[in-house]
Amino acid sequence: MKRTVYLDNNATAPARPEAREVARAALEAVGNPSSVHGHGQMARRLIEEARERVARLVGASPAWVTFTSGGTEANALAFQAAARRSVFVSAMEHPSVMAQASGATLLPVTPDGVVDLAAFEKALAGTEGPAFVSVMLANNETGVVQPLAAVAEVAHRHCAIVHCDAVQAAGKMTVDLAALGVDAITLSAHKLGGLPGCGALIADPSLSMPPLLAGGGQERSRRAGTENIVGIAAFGAAADVGFRPQEAQSRQRMRDRIEDALLAIEPAARVFGRDAPRLPNTTCVAMPGLAAETQVIAMDLLGISVSAGAACSSGKVHRSHVLKAMGVDDAEADTAIRVSLGWANTEEDAERFIDAWRTVCMRTRGHTLTGVTAA
Ligand code: PLP
Repeated sequence: MKRTVYLDNNATAPARPEAREVARAALEAVGNPSSVHGHGQMARRLIEEARERVARLVGASPAWVTFTSGGTEANALAFQAAARRSVFVSAMEHPSVMAQASGATLLPVTPDGVVDLAAFEKALAGTEGPAFVSVMLANNETGVVQPLAAVAEVAHRHCAIVHCDAVQAAGKMTVDLAALGVDAITLSAHKLGGLPGCGALIADPSLSMPPLLAGGGQERSRRAGTENIVGIAAFGAAADVGFRPQEAQSRQRMRDRIEDALLAIEPAARVFGRDAPRLPNTTCVAMPGLAAETQVIAMDLLGISVSAGAACSSGKVHRSHVLKAMGVDDAEADTAIRVSLGWANTEEDAERFIDAWRTVCMRTRGHTLTGVTAA
């Protein structure tokens, strides 16, 4: 039997060997990090070492790092700073941001999937009072990278707080807090080779941000509850691996090879956001005439794991609000799948995917032609 190929790294990336090793060692730690005895202090050291590593990944001070249960919680925590402010989010944010942003002004994006800066500036200029802005660094479905430094510059001119969901960007490109000029960043461990169930909000300690979970003094009172020692230690190890430019170049070569091959097989296929700056590992591509769910199942039967729309929505495929924001019509959006490469993928994986896509595409064409003939 052929080995299966995992191309859904934006949903969850396999844990890096470095993270697995640290997780195994952390399992041996028995203490509660809040305890004053030696065991507790050993556990505390694991957490503080991880905090330094995660902070280093984005060029922040360790004092800015609050560990959470993942990207979703970190996004929710960031929005605690939005109270009594006018809220602005891009129209293609992750559902975990959208869920916090009821009543927010949605910032339009261009057909390439980049936030429209002119429209943003206009919207902010028309607002009275303090504002809170949340724009992601890289989109989870298309991989399109946003001009965050420009967003932050405009926002700060209008005295807004700027939050950036960098969950998909971290580990795939350089993420530097100072260069981005934002006040808070969200990270998620399992997207960059750590374990699921762990993330961080990296935020200016001076921001007023009431905790979502209160009761213990953990995480400098920003997040109560005994820390997930294993997850946090593994997160630190994955953050320490960080961004490897050579790996990214290799991913990009595979991604470009996949896109060129698919467009040669089916010239009517479309890659979304292709002309915009993108993450090196992600492609979002529509195969004309076949629903994305059907493609995903057909690929799965051929031993390839990819996703339709946003995989975060627990197995249910919803129409992509990201493609809708980019002006893609519903019929085409419903045929788009996401392929996301990771550190463990090889060129052979890319070729296996191309072969599978060709098979599925030819079958679809056959059915379509049969349908046309029968009509
Ligand atoms: N933000 C983005 C851009 C994501 O892609 C995801 C997950 O896919 C999240 C936030 C949520 O992260 P987590 O799964 O750690 O809650």
